[in-house]
Amino acid sequence: MSLTKAELERYKRHTFLPEIGVEGQLKLKNASVLIVGTGGLGSPIAMYLAASGVGHIGLVDFDVVDESNLQRQIIHKSKNVGKLKTQSAAETLKDINPHIEISLFNEALNVDNALDIVEQFDIVTDGTDNFATRYLVNDACVLSGKVNVFGSIRQFEGQVSVFGTTDGPCYRCLFPEPPQPGIVPSCAEAGVMGVLPGVIGTLQATEIIKQITGIGEALIGRLLSYDALKMDFNEIKFIKDPDCKCCGEKPSITGLVNYDAFCCSKPASIVREINVETLKDSIENDKSPVLIDVRDSEELKEGFITNSIHIPMEEVAKRVHEIPKDKPVVVYCYSGMRSTRVIQELEQKGYTNLVNLRGGYEDWETII
Ligand SMILES: [Zn+2]
Repeated sequence: MSLTKAELERYKRHTFLPEIGVEGQLKLKNASVLIVGTGGLGSPIAMYLAASGVGHIGLVDFDVVDESNLQRQIIHKSKNVGKLKTQSAAETLKDINPHIEISLFNEALNVDNALDIVEQFDIVTDGTDNFATRYLVNDACVLSGKVNVFGSIRQFEGQVSVFGTTDGPCYRCLFPEPPQPGIVPSCAEAGVMGVLPGVIGTLQATEIIKQITGIGEALIGRLLSYDALKMDFNEIKFIKDPDCKCCGEKPSITGLVNYDAFCCSKPASIVREINVETLKDSIENDKSPVLIDVRDSEELKEGFITNSIHIPMEEVAKRVHEIPKDKPVVVYCYSGMRSTRVIQELEQKGYTNLVNLRGGYEDWETII
């Protein structure tokens, strides 16, 4: 593909830059970017990428425009309240640049569609405000070998980084597990300064353009944080974790998992726990509780506690009859997070005999 006369005129201020030139502008035209979420972050990302001449933009969103979005989601206009966000956003993007192609996915990104959608694009950017989608986007990108330009915002602060490049880290290298449910309020609960996503989303768009054109120093292995109240930027460096479950040398995540359960947004109830030493004593004294291992099959290769019943987390609902209600049961996973969630869900179904193995199999390995 080459640039038309109209495009050459439009992108002059880009092509004048020796770092970009006509060649870089062509790379932008031939590139495709998937934007997950057309909210606060998605707005400036989509608008600047469209204006910059990125040839194909994909938008994923299931939501409709709400009055309370307009304070920061500048891609949506007052007249579009009640309209699908993808359609409202597409209208704005076509106004900005009629030369680009736009694909709309009027659905939530989920375990069933994520890989299919992600695979259609060169680069993915995450503009969502919930942990479930954040881990889903990360895993889908690592599994399909796509770069994931990450941004997040809260109140007056935001963060940006670039994940999923060939030698660079992924989101799980930095945050292997989501925070305890209820500890971090979502954007909807916490509020956010209207211009904040403008700053963070524009930084994401900058990194995307740099990735496409191959210029500058990418924000790989660096988490850039911005504090609007202090008007301060700082950055922490981090490296690819060779033990990362997702992008490490022996990844245990080989497919997408149930992210809603993994990042349950309900506040945590208190779950009873046992430590590995006490469990070992009980087993050695022939007082072993029933042991339920909720890790996935891949993780079992690392070993398991003898006589455990293996019920992967996503199968618990349909195999619940295998979990007794009338004797002590210890549930474990790798770190104790997923097993806590499994117990919380089962307690809602009337279980009162479930105990979590604190520290999970990771701790168990240290004493055997
Ligand atoms: Zn990783």
